[in-house]
Amino acid sequence: MNTDTIVIVGAGQAGGWAAQTLRSEGFKGRIVLIGDEAHRPYERPPLSKAVLAGDAHADSTHLLKQDAFDRLDIDWRPKVAATRIDRPATQVHLSQGEPVRYDKLILCNGGRARRLEVPGADLPGVFTLRSIEDAMALGAALSANKRLLIVGGGWIGLEVAATARKKGLDVTVVEAMDRLCKRTVPPVISGYLHRLHSAHGVEVLLGTGVRALARAPGGGLSATLDDGRAIACDAVLVGIGLVANDALAREAGLACEGGVVVDSQCRSSDPDILAAGDVAAWHCEWAGRRMRLESWQNAQEQGIAAARAALGMAVNHQPLPWFWSDQYDVNLQIFGMPAPSHRVVVRGDPDSHVFVVFFLDQDKVVAALGPNCAKDLRFARRLIERRTSIDPERLADSRTPLAKL
Ligand code: FAD
Ligand code: NAP
Repeated sequence: MNTDTIVIVGAGQAGGWAAQTLRSEGFKGRIVLIGDEAHRPYERPPLSKAVLAGDAHADSTHLLKQDAFDRLDIDWRPKVAATRIDRPATQVHLSQGEPVRYDKLILCNGGRARRLEVPGADLPGVFTLRSIEDAMALGAALSANKRLLIVGGGWIGLEVAATARKKGLDVTVVEAMDRLCKRTVPPVISGYLHRLHSAHGVEVLLGTGVRALARAPGGGLSATLDDGRAIACDAVLVGIGLVANDALAREAGLACEGGVVVDSQCRSSDPDILAAGDVAAWHCEWAGRRMRLESWQNAQEQGIAAARAALGMAVNHQPLPWFWSDQYDVNLQIFGMPAPSHRVVVRGDPDSHVFVVFFLDQDKVVAALGPNCAKDLRFARRLIERRTSIDPERLADSRTPLAKL
């Protein structure tokens, strides 16, 4: 295959993995890594946890130390955005400098925090959290005895709530749906998370959104909720989801459906253009539908898969979805894709801090999740991957070791 130049757009987690995989697979040609941030590729999970808490330095999030990154011999363009893909000319236009030509192009340009579309959403003191700079700005506003209002009871909202409580702030979470993390976890876990945060002193308000934000007369901010209530606070974090950065691909005529549509070889509707990470939408066999998987695991594994596919290697990106969240001293992990149609089997006491929730399709475990149960979930993962038939009663009985099943 005659591939001299591979261009990667987006120097985040997926882009960083794509670049290093090209080299580790022996690619000797030119790699151009275009990233609109100032940083070399880094991981975002610590931004709502240790980095925000001040327990870890932002530099600790980099995928590679500077010397290892330099050894990759990449033409890295920090603070440069890709502005247009010219497919007939196989070129990417940039916010600075000449267009770059590609033989293969890998889109790893992720997504951005969804903005709150209400009056006052752009006031000083209203934050979103996606980048290192966002974490620094929000962290500076999190001082003890201040009042933080969090809009959105999803993963960002709950992790920041936990970090802010540790730092001594008063925290209120406003979630528009009738339970926390409704899109990603079943009611038993939403209920657990609600109790966990209430026990740590977070006020959780469900079924209402924020209608307006304004400066409060005596300083700070005031939020008006949909139900008319007013909440006084010093800072607001908006964590209401992610919007995929698929405009670049869409404007170039590539198939997009809330993300760049790719196959399990990471190829878009133009076989010379691939995509990976938060921006990519593909048919996930575990979910039985096309989706984007906004997770650390997928960013890494799909970045690797896209690089291999760009080199003409055989690839079938269908990892069992896995992700985790750390809140207070709780580590919650999810394997597989729970769906409302699955039969739910709870193992252990959901009022405790250690239990597992299994999801069965007929007699097969297809997903499992729970707090502080990493060892059980390792067994669960095997049950899912091996598609083992299981007796639900034995599964629910925590006296029967999972290893025996
Ligand atoms: P990104 O890491 O967002 O990288 C995309 C890069 O492309 C960015 O640098 C962006 O600025 C750049 N870019 C965008 N447009 C252009 C352009 N036109 N030109 C050039 N560059 C461009 N997942 C978990 O599984 N567990 C967790 O605990 C967890 N915690 C998280 C905490 C936070 C605060 C956040 C924000 C995310 C968390 N995630 C977690 C999700 C995980 O970090 C993401 O799924 C992952 O970062 C996606 O990687 P990516 O490379 O696709 O996108
Ligand atoms: P998220 O997990 O999608 O949660 C956003 C929540 O806000 C959802 O419950 C959403 O409800 C709700 N919401 C939407 N609009 C609202 C409104 N106007 N008012 C109040 N609530 C509203 O997204 P996120 O927490 O913002 O996270 C952003 C990205 O970071 C995602 O990619 C996420 O996966 C990633 N992240 C992951 C982790 C982790 O995996 N541990 C941690 C932090 C961040 P609907 O579902 O109905 O829209």
